[in-house]
Amino acid sequence: MRTLVFSDIHSNITALEKVLSIAGNMDAYWCLGDLVGYGPDPNECIKRVRALPNLMCVRGNHDSATLGEVDQQTFNHEASLAITWTKRVLNAESQEFLLSLPEKIVIGDVTLVHGSPHNPVWDYVMDYMTAVRMFAYYETRICMVGHTHVPAIWKEDTEKPSTIPVMDYHKTPILSKTILNPGSIGQPRDHDPRASYAIYDSDKSTWELRRISYDYSVVQDRIKASGLPWRHALRLAEGW
Ligand code: ZN
Repeated sequence: MRTLVFSDIHSNITALEKVLSIAGNMDAYWCLGDLVGYGPDPNECIKRVRALPNLMCVRGNHDSATLGEVDQQTFNHEASLAITWTKRVLNAESQEFLLSLPEKIVIGDVTLVHGSPHNPVWDYVMDYMTAVRMFAYYETRICMVGHTHVPAIWKEDTEKPSTIPVMDYHKTPILSKTILNPGSIGQPRDHDPRASYAIYDSDKSTWELRRISYDYSVVQDRIKASGLPWRHALRLAEGW
């Protein structure tokens, strides 16, 4: 079974549509949260995601903040402005969908969370030392996370652990306990502006990171027209 694994769409329907069209028909779709925040298309993104077949989707910190379930003070000023804007434009169906999202899903030998298995909505797994601590917090072989907006592969049996995320754009066999991050669809932060996602093949137990460029200028135009902070548009061009 081939599954499209993606995260941190952040209200960027142009990047999401590009990824879905390039990926083609998949057997299943797993979304690791943060459908909204930063960008101009929250309702469009939620509508597109919720209609995907065999969808599993967990909740991210921006999703929770948009529902008013966490203190917006924990976000930086411009992220908070976008959350306030998103709360205002979110329609009833979108709100209902975000409310329905769990913080964690276990499916077969995979755990899905937004942040980390220890603190599903808020923790970041940014480096190998953090990943090492996190291996103890989930029972399955694989844990898929988002939240950092940086694609990564952290393997428990690594002989020479690297503090920076391991990137491998080939099909990586997943044989041991592993934490996988597909990167971000709508706001990559590894200085590569292309949308980031992954394909997980559960039969072959492989993970394949992929990148695809999209026309971010039209998203920048919509950010400007919406009155959202211009910084959220600027960063799309450079991937930070
Ligand atoms: Zn995010």
